[in-house]
Amino acid sequence: MRDKFDVIIIGAGPAGLKCAEQFKNSNISVLLIEKNKVIGPKVCAGGLTSLSAVFDFPDLKARAFEKLIFYFASKKHEIDLVYPIRTIDRYDLGQYLLDKIKDCKNIRILKKTTVIQIKENRITTSRGDFYYKCLVGADGSSSLARKYLGLKSELSVGLCYKAPKITDNFVVYASPKLLGSGYIWIFPHKNYTHIGVYFHPEVFSAKEAKEILDDFLKKNNYSYFDNKLEAAPINFFYQGCVFKNIFLIGDAAGLASEITGEGISYALISGKEIGRKIINPDYKMPALKEILKIKKRQRIAAGFVRKSFLFQKIFLYFSLKLIRIKWFQKHFGF
Ligand SMILES: Cc1cc2nc3c(=O)[nH]c(=O)nc-3n(C[C@H](O)[C@H](O)[C@H](O)COP(=O)(O)OP(=O)(O)OC[C@H]3O[C@@H](n4cnc5c(N)ncnc54)[C@H](O)[C@@H]3O)c2cc1C
Repeated sequence: MRDKFDVIIIGAGPAGLKCAEQFKNSNISVLLIEKNKVIGPKVCAGGLTSLSAVFDFPDLKARAFEKLIFYFASKKHEIDLVYPIRTIDRYDLGQYLLDKIKDCKNIRILKKTTVIQIKENRITTSRGDFYYKCLVGADGSSSLARKYLGLKSELSVGLCYKAPKITDNFVVYASPKLLGSGYIWIFPHKNYTHIGVYFHPEVFSAKEAKEILDDFLKKNNYSYFDNKLEAAPINFFYQGCVFKNIFLIGDAAGLASEITGEGISYALISGKEIGRKIINPDYKMPALKEILKIKKRQRIAAGFVRKSFLFQKIFLYFSLKLIRIKWFQKHFGF
């Protein structure tokens, strides 16, 4: 097998797959490396907000919700959304994105291959060394590429269960007293329901988060399933995407939302923009600039929310009112 590529992408999550798609049928040689045997599955609730509206997903795979059921300190609010929220299973999303590139002659996809070390113009993998002109780190929240660049991360955590189909409502529970700035989600998919808790580890530990979630499930009579608990970090600390010939996208770039943990849309948008930037270095990446503005607003709001319990209540109170407005959904990425 050849060992020299114009572009090497580490990680075939939504960011890496979307980035690879930009080189489809071009004369740029691409190597996409994924450590897993199957492309797609990931610990994730698969919720897609208004930010994903620019991307089409097959109706057969995605579910759309025009109403959000929001519990704020036990009080139920039914919110009609301007932009519907969708859910998509991560296997389905991965396979859908993979289908777009799998037959491209210029894109080589290596599964079951782990990148172990990065050096200038070369990477070492479990299948040997490969040389690159451009390297794209699309390797998620524990990114090796990010570590190679010496960048710090700030992590939130999602802890969750896959339950049987128990509801058709898209539900979010927020309770500053119980969850601080975190929340519990219930996201219905085609064949199952995803339930979990999003939290910042400085607020409480994973053990405490699990206790809160289990208690919530018990109180709501969802405790009849004993599925495996899963957890994963989410990097929301953005410090740049372009570092000479090395690029970071998605969670590797810290692009996920600090407030909600949403990262799929950010991964897709950054993957697309960085792909275009590699093809044309003068490309200004307008869509990436837009999500960076949203990230800035989220950072300010998160700083406010972290100050105190009272601020969390104020933030939630106003979010409840504002989420019904198109401008707010668009500008804060809900
Ligand atoms: C519990 C939980 C719930 C979430 N729910 C939502 C949600 O509802 N909506 C939403 O938008 N976001 C959600 N997120 C966030 C979302 O999962 C991520 O933001 C998104 O997956 C980021 O995509 P990515 O392509 O950047 O990274 P990833 O999806 O993490 O993909 C990275 C890929 O790189 C591969 N990889 C990593 N290291 C290497 C290596 N050394 N060599 C080779 N391959 C490697 C991995 O196997 C993986 O396939 C959730 C996260 C968690 C933890």
